[in-house]
Amino acid sequence: MKEERNAIVIGGGLIGLWSAWYLIEQGWQVTLLERDRIGSGASHGNCGYVSPSHVMPLSTPGVVAKSLPMVLKGNGALSIPPRFDPGLWKWLYRFWRECTETKVQRTAIARHALLASAMQLYREFLAEHPVDCEWQDEGLLFVWKSKRDFADYAATAERLQQDFGLNLKAYEGEAVRDLEPALRTGMAGGWHFPDDAHIRPDKLLTQLRGQLEQRGCVIHEHTPVERLRIEAGRLQGLETGGGAMTADLVVLATGAEAPRFARPLGARIPIQPGKGYSFTMTPPAGAPRIPMIFEEKHVAVTPMKTAFRVGSTMQFVGYDKTLDQRRLNMLRQSTVEHLQTPLPEQVDEQWCGWRPMVYDGLPCIDRAPAASNVIVAAGNGMVGLASGTATGKLVAELASEVTPHIDPAPYSLSRFR
Ligand SMILES: Cc1cc2nc3c(=O)[nH]c(=O)nc-3n(C[C@H](O)[C@H](O)[C@H](O)COP(=O)(O)OP(=O)(O)OC[C@H]3O[C@@H](n4cnc5c(N)ncnc54)[C@H](O)[C@@H]3O)c2cc1C
Repeated sequence: MKEERNAIVIGGGLIGLWSAWYLIEQGWQVTLLERDRIGSGASHGNCGYVSPSHVMPLSTPGVVAKSLPMVLKGNGALSIPPRFDPGLWKWLYRFWRECTETKVQRTAIARHALLASAMQLYREFLAEHPVDCEWQDEGLLFVWKSKRDFADYAATAERLQQDFGLNLKAYEGEAVRDLEPALRTGMAGGWHFPDDAHIRPDKLLTQLRGQLEQRGCVIHEHTPVERLRIEAGRLQGLETGGGAMTADLVVLATGAEAPRFARPLGARIPIQPGKGYSFTMTPPAGAPRIPMIFEEKHVAVTPMKTAFRVGSTMQFVGYDKTLDQRRLNMLRQSTVEHLQTPLPEQVDEQWCGWRPMVYDGLPCIDRAPAASNVIVAAGNGMVGLASGTATGKLVAELASEVTPHIDPAPYSLSRFR
């Protein structure tokens, strides 16, 4: 008989839940520890895009020069208020060094592998399990007001088609309103990625939790992990708010907070919290059918079945969770400028969360150098939902020492040495 191995997953966000799911598939007995409640991190209020379109990293040539005026003025989607934070300065410097053609291509290949696999795994999962997460296959529409920026995107579009086989189509001028009549007149155009999908993230979290519990996963909420006890190259135990625990394997899936455990694990985990906001309301009359990103403003709208969400902005302000009303107003204002849909004043939820941002645009999915029985799974940045299934599957494959379904090398921790 096969010996039962037990694993502890730390962190009840999408990456922790998907890791638990695939570990159970590989025969592990799983306990999941969450400091607060399932989904209290970035996984709850995100925009819900399952987006294999998001192959290109943020760090593209020219992006720093283009974003600088916005950062200096402090009125754009990207905000980096000046403050003493050497860790952030180092991170930004390394981000800038990533902005070369060669590095972008290398990163895009690794992102594509993860995102394409994740989409296939989502479809397999949903075909086999009764999970209602409001999945909709409407694609994703990138919209521009500026004719020049819209035209410039053609080069990226060609690259996405030729190098990565993505399916996308341009809608120029008023043609974009024929596709999505909720848009105001006067847009320069849009590119539609018909193979993207969207969901309601909080429903996925709740339903996935239910599926996990049905399969014997034990979930302890309000159980913070305070310390990892590592001796002789292995994790010997955990100290938690609920007492000491031990397991054959531990998966660190604490999102933007993973760096806190980097030192005992002998790893560099260069993650910065990229704070983003969203607000959610009852779907208004005349809401769009297709999720959209307003490219100049970097604002995203998501028409879910039971809600309408507006989200985005990226603030590098450290581990701060205050809701800045000005940023929420900016999201609303950008939406009003693009949509003719009247937005209700009544909002059901205002939210912010920390995207776990690695400067090279790739997550960390690897065994910890100082503890062979710990796997780090964090840093999925802006695509933690879209890459969640494949990340979890890779974690379980590394844990079980079976042939990985995608090459794990690009996500290794050794790239930071
Ligand atoms: C505005 C916004 C919009 C986004 N839109 C999208 C989108 O459309 N598509 C997409 O793919 N991605 C999107 N993202 C990114 C996505 O939300 C994240 O990549 C993803 O949620 C990260 O998941 P995670 O499990 O790594 O982290 P989290 O969801 O943050 O989970 C980490 C968990 O670990 C817990 N934890 C931390 N420390 C401890 C500890 N010591 N002990 C126990 N538990 C601990 C936390 O409480 C938290 O619940 C968006 C993000 C934002 C902010």
